[in-house]
Amino acid sequence: MPKITYEKPIVELQGDEMTRILWDWIKEILLEPKVELNTEYYDLGLVHRDETDDRVTFEAGEAIKKWGVGVKCATITPNAQRMEEYKLKRLYPSPNGTIRAVLDGTVFRTPILVKGITPYIPTWTKPITIARHAYGDVYKATDVRVEAGSRAELLVTKADGSTEKYPVHDFTGAGVLQGMHNTDKSITAFARSCFNFALSSGRDLWFGTKDTISKTYDGRFKAIFADIYEKEFKAAFEKAGLNYEYTLIDDCVARVVRSSGGYIWACKNYDGDVMSDMLATAFGSLAMMSSVLVSPDGNYEYEAAHGTVTRHYYKYRAGEETSTNPVATIFAWSGALRKRGESENNAALTSFADDLERATISTIESGYMTGDLAGIFKADGITPKKLNSRDFLKAIASNL
Ligand code: NAP
Ligand code: MG
Repeated sequence: MPKITYEKPIVELQGDEMTRILWDWIKEILLEPKVELNTEYYDLGLVHRDETDDRVTFEAGEAIKKWGVGVKCATITPNAQRMEEYKLKRLYPSPNGTIRAVLDGTVFRTPILVKGITPYIPTWTKPITIARHAYGDVYKATDVRVEAGSRAELLVTKADGSTEKYPVHDFTGAGVLQGMHNTDKSITAFARSCFNFALSSGRDLWFGTKDTISKTYDGRFKAIFADIYEKEFKAAFEKAGLNYEYTLIDDCVARVVRSSGGYIWACKNYDGDVMSDMLATAFGSLAMMSSVLVSPDGNYEYEAAHGTVTRHYYKYRAGEETSTNPVATIFAWSGALRKRGESENNAALTSFADDLERATISTIESGYMTGDLAGIFKADGITPKKLNSRDFLKAIASNL
């Protein structure tokens, strides 16, 4: 059979450690035998980020803007220990943060469900997608320690030079202080991405904040969502039979736990960070969580939600076999290939993406999986078999 081809490149962002190894194996065993991969390659491995003073990360973000579709391997966010380990010139920021700043998007995280792995909340029979605002709040805040006897105020200098001051706190004892922000532009883009994603995936959208306490700040999020919905999306939602609902985040949490899933839950940046980890764990495994960053102008970056699986990498480097789960990274590739297929009306490519996902899920459902899943898999008449990563990929390939 001739290999499947497509026109425009997909931006390929290689990463670090165990996921870097899995990346090459996925291409070799699952993709390259069937698809003539056309990628624009950026090596975001920490060594090359250091060699380029992190320029490669910005360039990769710009390339996704240019070509519209990217796929990213997990990468190390360096800390002091990594700086020593890799003899880095400086402490580079998180690559995901850099790319999010270039694309200004929303991150959608969706668990990959398979029969035999029951969520801790058994009524969750359909996936719950977290839409996480990826700009501002505590992730771009000024954090300070304050001495006893200090007075803290917010000072705003306007465009015309005039100022306004707002009291924060008179510190009788020492304490801490934080200044954070968001912008109408970014919140508006967040709202549009969420409404578009809900429409394109045919699911309801919920949004929750703490606007009872944070009346102006969170209130602004609520108002912008309401405004964009009324003006731009209400008609399309009604036509598609979908709902948009705003409620207090406390109420969201209670309703999520009682629900059967199947909707999109929009969260502010911090809420989305925490709630997506909670959902990943509750759905069974961090290694079964897919993730896509969608920019307001319609660019897509697909990745796994987990990290570089350092502990497994050290074993691999010592010559041991590891049973690291490649599923979320496979789904990052299938997501990118499907999106490219859709953008070029390329049915062969979109079908390949569907087949790849089906083959991956059916391999697990028939009892062949990596160690993280083998420990929690339960299905009548099937004894789960734990495979190493390469053998698991080969089992998927033979189903494919
Ligand atoms: P991690 O790589 O997600 O791994 C944490 C633990 O979760 C692993 O030790 C492993 O547990 C389990 N795990 C995660 N993914 C797995 C998989 N695919 N298959 C099997 N088990 C899996 O998180 P971390 O150890 O906190 O971070 C490691 C590095 O990744 C850090 O340098 C961090 O900066 C980076 N990171 C990158 C991203 C990203 O690029 N998106 C996200 C998060 C972290 P066991 O060891 O018990 O088997
Ligand atoms: Mg988190």
